[in-house]
Formats: sequence, structure tokens, C-alpha cells
Amino acid sequence: MSYFKQTSLIYECDCGVINYFDPFTFWNFKGKVKCAGCDAIYYMEIEEGQRTKGPDKADPPHDKLPGFAETKDWKAITDPDKVNPAPQARPDFQGKPIPIVRNVRGKLVSGRPLTPEELIGSRPRFIVEGKIRKNND
Ligand SMILES: [Zn+2]
Repeated sequence: MSYFKQTSLIYECDCGVINYFDPFTFWNFKGKVKCAGCDAIYYMEIEEGQRTKGPDKADPPHDKLPGFAETKDWKAITDPDKVNPAPQARPDFQGKPIPIVRNVRGKLVSGRPLTPEELIGSRPRFIVEGKIRKNND
């Protein structure tokens, strides 16, 4: 077996499914992973993106699912019970921008769609007046 196959974040299980351990969540990892194809559990240690130990057969329960997996004929496995969802930049990510009226420093910003009534010229009224009206914060 090649050095790459022994140390990479890609592991081809005996069942033929190729499991990808995404570098974002598996960069430093010690624990058990479940194959997305045959549900076999493997123990492995990954240090700075290189597999240093394993995969060795282990007993359930598993700690983590692979980030992505596919079969030999290039069919992706996307079942959420088999693979992890992709890591998001924000834990509260919901697929579109979250409307905000204050930034992380507490300053007023127009981080949401504004109606013409909320504007003075082209500036948001609440920023010009320095306060938020109605039920915003
Ligand atoms: Zn397998």
C-alpha cells in the first residue's frame, strides 16, 4: 500500500465506498468513524491532516461520520445519517443573510432591506437619528 493511501484523509473501505474526511473537522482527530457504505466502525488518529494511526476495526458507537463519501461508480452518498453536513462559517447559518440592525461592536448598521419611509435622503433614518424605533432592539 502506498504512503498516500496510508496517511491521507481519504479512506477506501473494504466494501468499496470511498470515505473523505474533510480537513476542516478532521484536521486533528482521535476517535471512531463510521463507513458511509457498510456502517463498519474504524478507529483512527489524524494529526495536522495526516492519518497517523488506523484505520483499525472498532466497536460502536462511532464519534463522527465522514464529511463526504462516494461509491466506486462515482455516486455521491448524501444521506445525512451516513455523512456529516458541511461545516458552516457561522453556527446559525440559515442559507441567506441574517437581517441585523447592530454590528458586533454594537453600532447601528443597515443590515436589512429598508423601505423608502425609513430613509432620509439615501441614509437610514435610525442611523441619522442615532436610535432605533419601534420593535427593533
Ligand atoms: Zn465500508
